Amino acid sequence: TEDISTISEKDLTHILEKNRSFYTQGKVANYIPELGKMDAQSIALSIVGKNGKVLNVGDVGKKFTMQSISKIIALMIAVSEKGEAHVFDKMGYFGTSQPFNSFSNLETSGKPLNPMMNAGAILTTSLISGDGEKPFLKILDMVRYITRNQTLDYNKSVYESERSTGHRNRGMFYLMKNNGLISGNEDQLNNYFKQCSIELTAEDLAKIGYFFANGCVRFDGDSQYKNAEIAQLIESQMLIAGMYEFSGEYARTVGLPSKSGVGGGIAISVPGKMGIGVFSPALDQHGNSLAGYHMILDLVKQYHLSIF
Ligand code: GLN
Repeated sequence: TEDISTISEKDLTHILEKNRSFYTQGKVANYIPELGKMDAQSIALSIVGKNGKVLNVGDVGKKFTMQSISKIIALMIAVSEKGEAHVFDKMGYFGTSQPFNSFSNLETSGKPLNPMMNAGAILTTSLISGDGEKPFLKILDMVRYITRNQTLDYNKSVYESERSTGHRNRGMFYLMKNNGLISGNEDQLNNYFKQCSIELTAEDLAKIGYFFANGCVRFDGDSQYKNAEIAQLIESQMLIAGMYEFSGEYARTVGLPSKSGVGGGIAISVPGKMGIGVFSPALDQHGNSLAGYHMILDLVKQYHLSIF
C-alpha cells in the first residue's frame, strides 16, 4: 500500500468493530487515579495520509491524555537543542525487558536504558532548556504545531492526580539527581507530568505518527521542522522501545515504529507514507492498549504495512 487512497472508512469500521470487544480483556490504568475514570468502551481509529487526507472511525471526538506518547516530542526537542551526542551520553539506546516504570540500571551504570521508559523520559525533559514551565510549554507548542490545533492543552486534574501519586517517578528523578544526571529542581519532574497530561484525539495521534513517518514534515506539507535525521532517531526509538517490553514481539507482529501511552493511545508511523492513531483505554499487562494493538495488527496484515 503506497498511500491511504486504497483504504476506505468502511474497511476501517470493519476492523474497529471486529476488535471492539477486546476492551473486556484489558484494564483501564488506575495507578494514576484520574485515569481510572476513563470510559473503557470508547474506541477510535484514525489514519492520516499524504496531502493531509484523514480517515476517522469510532469515537474520534473523544479526548484522552497522551501520556508516554509525549516522550517522542520531548526527545525531538531535547535532541534539536542539545544534539544527539549530548542526550545519549546521559542515557542508552537499549531496548528493554523491563516495564516502563522500571528503575532498570539506575543503581548500577547509573544511566537510563532509553528515552522511552519513564526514567529516560524524565531525564530527556530535564534537558530541554528554560526555567519553570518553559520546557513543558515547548512540548505543548510542538504538539499544537504537529496537529495544527492551537486549542490543545493539558488536563489539570490528570496532572494533579499524577503529581500527587507519582512517587515512583519522583524516586527516579532524585536517583538521577544523585547520579549527577539531573541538576534542576522538581519543576522539571512537573514538566514531565504535565506533558503526559496533554489531551488529544486519535486523529491528533495519527498526525504525530505522520510527522515522524515523513521526516518531520507536517500532514499539510508544512516543512519548517523538516529533519530526516531526527525523524530516523525517533522512529528507531519507537521501534525498539516504544511499546516497552512488548516492543520485540510487536516488531515481529506489527513491524512499525509505534509509541503507546497508558491513556490508551498509540501513535504509529508508516515510514514515508502515513500516520495511524488508535485509542482504547483498556490496557494489557505491559500498559499498551489491547484493542488498539489488535486494530493495528489487522490493519498491517490487510494492507501489508510492516516495514519488514
Ligand atoms: N505518565 C505515565 C507515568 O509516568 C506515563 C506512562 C505511560 O504512558 N506508559 O507513569
